[in-house]
Amino acid sequence: MGVGTDVHPFASHDRPLWVAGLEWPGEGPGLAGHSDGDVAAHAICDALLSACSLGDLGKVFGTSDPRWSGASGVTLVRETARLVDEAGWLIGNVAVQVIGNRPKIGKRRDEAAKTLSEALNGAAVSVSATTTDGLGLTGRGEGLAALANALVFPK
Ligand code: MG
Repeated sequence: MGVGTDVHPFASHDRPLWVAGLEWPGEGPGLAGHSDGDVAAHAICDALLSACSLGDLGKVFGTSDPRWSGASGVTLVRETARLVDEAGWLIGNVAVQVIGNRPKIGKRRDEAAKTLSEALNGAAVSVSATTTDGLGLTGRGEGLAALANALVFPK
């Protein structure tokens, strides 16, 4: 099994908000970053890479590699699934928890899980969320964090 975490700050300028493979219109400015800043997608990639000892997001999707410049979170999840398969692993299930004040994940939880699951060739994905009661960078609304776990089996 593997673990992944990610944090991105909210952008100070107008930018679409992408979290857990979905765009969240009307939920305020998006997340800043090299890509779309989708913390949930990035945490899932890191959890899967961790589970298979394939390194991490920085190693596999380095910011210097033009192939991944501006890549969506779902694109990275899809490519990670391909690498996991290529390395001889089957994905059991993936759990991701988004930590922050907005967007409110619960109202689109199933849609997010379905989108992420499709990017993982149908592997089970659960999506949950929590806040930090006003504490820390997520509590102050400065950014969004995510934690993910992934279970894999050798083929
Ligand atoms: Mg990231």
